Amino acid sequence: RLEIRHLVRQFDGRPVVDDVSLSIMPGQVTCLLGPSGCGKSTTLRMIAGVEMQDSGEIWVDGKLICDTVFRVPPERRQIGLMFQDFALFPHLSVAGNVAYGLRGGKDEKRARVVELLERVDLLQFIDGYPHQLSGGEQQRVALARALAPRPRIMLMDEPFSGLDNRLRDGIRDETLGLLKEEDTAVLLVTHEPEEAMRMADEIALMRDGRIVQQGAPYNVYTRPVDRAAVSFFSDAN
Ligand code: ATP
Ligand code: MG
Repeated sequence: RLEIRHLVRQFDGRPVVDDVSLSIMPGQVTCLLGPSGCGKSTTLRMIAGVEMQDSGEIWVDGKLICDTVFRVPPERRQIGLMFQDFALFPHLSVAGNVAYGLRGGKDEKRARVVELLERVDLLQFIDGYPHQLSGGEQQRVALARALAPRPRIMLMDEPFSGLDNRLRDGIRDETLGLLKEEDTAVLLVTHEPEEAMRMADEIALMRDGRIVQQGAPYNVYTRPVDRAAVSFFSDAN
């Protein structure tokens, strides 16, 4: 379970993330939805630990992992990341990429790699290299890599936006399905209402650094908080 409390981040005196609080349960997908520049990626980067907040707290499973004085480094947060740019390590094989974040014995790691490559339907490429795969295949390897260490929390910043439409729906549904099965708490960033409506258990609507509305997709869509929310949902179509 991920909890963020009163996160604030300013750039040049301008609050870009302005008192954001969220709570995400295991097995749930929360979509952080909002227009370009509203502060979505900055919020995710703070949770990942690659950017420091000016104030506020981040908790994982009831443990404080970051406030303004205490800070668990990114690699020890048990938080998985999937960003738009999926970059695989070009010098590592497909198996090497998927095993990258894994600990344990050789056989154990290999078994997990095989399991995951089977799930993304790429087992035949296990000993191949990234440059031998198509973009969509590389993305599925990156997905397997992100899932491999069974992170308790997965942060996804528009990870499907680079894919063509035909591939996207399948990979997106598959990915979120796997994460739910593993009971991961998922925070998915998107600026597309349609994607949020389809994937989210909960939508947090963000604007100008603040969460202006939060709730089940149907409720957020049918009972928009203000005119700006109405036009955000309708303009996008
Ligand atoms: P998009 O949907 O376009 O990805 P976003 O909601 O992810 O947008 P952010 O990347 O969080 O938006 O950026 C929010 C605001 O903060 C933007 O106005 C951006 O210019 C500003 N910003 C982000 N990082 C920095 C930085 N390192 N220095 C100065 N300003 C920044
Ligand atoms: Mg962004």
